[in-house]
Amino acid sequence: MKPFPEHRIRLLNRKEIRTDGGYVLYWMTANRRLHYNFALQRAVQWARSLGKPLLILEALRCDTRWASDRSHAFLLQGMNQHRRELEGSAVGYFPFVEKKPGEGKGLLQHLANHAATVIADDSPAFIFPAMLKRAASLCPVPLEAVDSCGLVPLQAPNKAFHRAVDFRRYCQKELEGHLQLRPLRRPLPGSGLPPFKRLPAGTRKRWPQATAGLLSAKTTNLQSLPLDHEVTPLPAIGGEKEARKRWRRFMKQDLDHYGEPNKHLLEEVHSGLSPYLHFGHLSSHEIIQDLYRRAGGFPDSFPTANRGSVHGWWGLPEAWERFLDQVITWRELGFQFHHRFENAESYESVPVWARRSLAKHQKDRRSALYSLETLEAAETGSKLWNAMQRQLITEGRIHGYLRMLWGKQLLAWFQEPEQAFEALVHLNNRFALDGRDPNSYSGISWCFGRFDRPWGPERPIYGNVRYMNEAGAGRKFHLAPYLDRFV
Ligand SMILES: Cc1cc2nc3c(=O)[nH]c(=O)nc-3n(C[C@H](O)[C@H](O)[C@H](O)COP(=O)(O)OP(=O)(O)OC[C@H]3O[C@@H](n4cnc5c(N)ncnc54)[C@H](O)[C@@H]3O)c2cc1C
Repeated sequence: MKPFPEHRIRLLNRKEIRTDGGYVLYWMTANRRLHYNFALQRAVQWARSLGKPLLILEALRCDTRWASDRSHAFLLQGMNQHRRELEGSAVGYFPFVEKKPGEGKGLLQHLANHAATVIADDSPAFIFPAMLKRAASLCPVPLEAVDSCGLVPLQAPNKAFHRAVDFRRYCQKELEGHLQLRPLRRPLPGSGLPPFKRLPAGTRKRWPQATAGLLSAKTTNLQSLPLDHEVTPLPAIGGEKEARKRWRRFMKQDLDHYGEPNKHLLEEVHSGLSPYLHFGHLSSHEIIQDLYRRAGGFPDSFPTANRGSVHGWWGLPEAWERFLDQVITWRELGFQFHHRFENAESYESVPVWARRSLAKHQKDRRSALYSLETLEAAETGSKLWNAMQRQLITEGRIHGYLRMLWGKQLLAWFQEPEQAFEALVHLNNRFALDGRDPNSYSGISWCFGRFDRPWGPERPIYGNVRYMNEAGAGRKFHLAPYLDRFV
């Protein structure tokens, strides 16, 4: 086999390859794409070396927490593109969508029983770690989890990072090495693999393949699934094609102005890529390769600055470097943290200094306390907060700066910080299209002090945790048009 970045592979069990297995199975879960995908590349390598066909299983459960018409529509659209793209090719593609909870139970094991070996996506958050652990014991053949989450392999650093500046320093030193082995743009070969002929007997009968109608994600079809129907689909279309289109448009039209001060909230310069990155429809490898192609070529080496600063390292224009700092440093800081700390999704992951400080101020008087229902319905006493919540409900996102203010405000409306944390997790993951991601928990925990430092002076309620308020937002932005739009 060609060299493959070993840091990206975790062998999850100790089973023997079945040389009489009918195919190599790739279980696509967290990185749902056919391009720049190390797991798919690894599966193709195995299929080639064993002389077996390749079968891709892409399944969608309906019982995951916060599953809604919004998240399902986006995922189904991505699956539909895969169905179309792989139709008539040598690669087998089996899309399965649960119509009732538990319907997919046994499917992976059934397909693995007939496979030579199984490759799966690695991912450190949400349902994936537990799903992989369970699958490892069920599969009668080797199960490799392959990490295609970002530029830095999850397993590569031998330490944890608690601040962006430390992770940035690590990247400035080590990224060049990790980028030596980049994923192929198109890991699926045009030919060369034996054609996949048929699924094991009984598969379709027990687990009917998702129809083109269901994958088209029409509202009527979504209504028949047991999902949260109040969280409705958005105009944004899911899938790799749309991800690429959106990324390239952003790169050409807006990137040069990314991060420049802009008082107009409704004209925010942002990529809108977080849902595509979250569902794995887009890879940060594609982003960085496109950027360097546009800049004249991938560098043989990066400038040797090693100071932890945002600029002067990538050798690219400032606005591009600001963008890379978000999509690489900040995004992958969240993945690294999740990979290392099992409690990354709980309040316990907030640093001790911050939890102590918030606990000290737990009894401070709050001007109002709201129930989760009041927050969900955007019916608090704050016009601005309600507007942000309405943007989240209707657009599945909140303006980048305002999202921080939106999150921080909950500390003032719950007596206990743990309750505020849980409420924020629920609101974010229920409505945000990019929710349930490692960076959902980075962003939420940041509001409580993670990846930050103690700030002075010590304040009521917030203690030494960084404080943000509406007056500050009012100085930074023209709020009126935003309020008009969302109130
Ligand atoms: C309370 C709160 C909750 C958040 N929840 C989520 C979430 O559920 N999912 C999510 O992906 N991000 C979350 N973030 C981080 C950030 O708000 C979003 O990533 C960003 O607003 C997405 O919009 P965009 O794609 O247009 O970003 P852009 O500004 O265009 O940035 C490009 C990419 O960089 C990454 N990025 C940008 N800002 C951050 C950040 N602060 N931390 C980590 N990565 C970042 C994202 O992958 C983003 O798509 C949250 C932040 C806060 C304060």
